[in-house]
Amino acid sequence: QASHHSGTVAVYKPEMNPYSERRLTLMTELRSAIENDKLRLYFQPQLNPQTQRVKGFEALLRWSHPEYGIIPPDEFIPMAEQTGLIKPLTRWVISNALSFCHQLNHVDPTITVAVNISAVNLREPGFSEQAKDLLSSSQVDARNLVMEVTETEAMTDPKSAIQTLRALKEAQIGLSIDDFGTGHSSLSYIRKLPISEIKIDRSFVTGMDKNDGDSTIVRTTVNMCHDLGYEVVAEGVETAEVQSMLAAMNCDRVQGYHIAPPMDADQAITWLVDRPA
Ligand code: C2E
Ligand code: CA
Ligand code: CA
Ligand code: CA
Repeated sequence: QASHHSGTVAVYKPEMNPYSERRLTLMTELRSAIENDKLRLYFQPQLNPQTQRVKGFEALLRWSHPEYGIIPPDEFIPMAEQTGLIKPLTRWVISNALSFCHQLNHVDPTITVAVNISAVNLREPGFSEQAKDLLSSSQVDARNLVMEVTETEAMTDPKSAIQTLRALKEAQIGLSIDDFGTGHSSLSYIRKLPISEIKIDRSFVTGMDKNDGDSTIVRTTVNMCHDLGYEVVAEGVETAEVQSMLAAMNCDRVQGYHIAPPMDADQAITWLVDRPA
């Protein structure tokens, strides 16, 4: 095993971690996967739970690997963050999400598309300028684009992150706090951040029909966020019961397997146009 003092690259020991061979392979191949278009964006719809109207989609990354099959983002996003590849990767995501949004414009020009942004991007100099450049070459209105950042990411480096968030808001890009309730919850930051939307973490949502504590948290969060002027999305909606509870709470948007799973762009457009009006 390599010591930290030897200056050598860490030695890989398969018997210590059954996943490390896979990990090493993926680390090596990620760059070429990005360059050779091996990544795919899937899109999961968000509905207004009262009207059932489609309000938006969230873009979710998948890596289609010849040996390992579909690799979920939780496995390779951290690698991309460690290697700096998250910078070109996020640009790729924004650019492809904007192409999808441009297609949606023909069906309904009010539908938004949300992309997930990493903390690394928020600290990246010039990130907001790049986002604006991608927008202006896409023919998509900035108000149709939403960026989701996790609570933790928005708070760990507040000063430079807030500067970037301000610039994005000034450009009229929507900003959503993802996984709300699970990070370094700081209600004072929620008040100060230049955001437009809060996304309640699915750990409070999925079982809220069977857990009074969860439904109280969700109802209170919806009311608090509305008082602060933010829209609220509930993720992880897996049953009709939860969806109707959220409708009664005036939650603005619902997302989850009960509505639809993440779909590729063609499936998502077909799903949208085939819906009864
Ligand atoms: P997230 O942003 O919280 O995304 C929601 C996750 O919940 C997605 O997992 C989605 O497929 C899953 N999901 C949707 N509906 C339901 C439901 O009803 N029940 C349950 N249990 N799960 C549901 P996915 O696609 O595996 O993504 C995992 C995480 O990877 C995302 O969590 C996000 O943090 C990250 N991620 C995905 N795409 C990107 C990306 O383009 N860039 C970055 N930086 N991160 C991404
Ligand atoms: Ca998200
Ligand atoms: Ca989330
Ligand atoms: Ca997450």
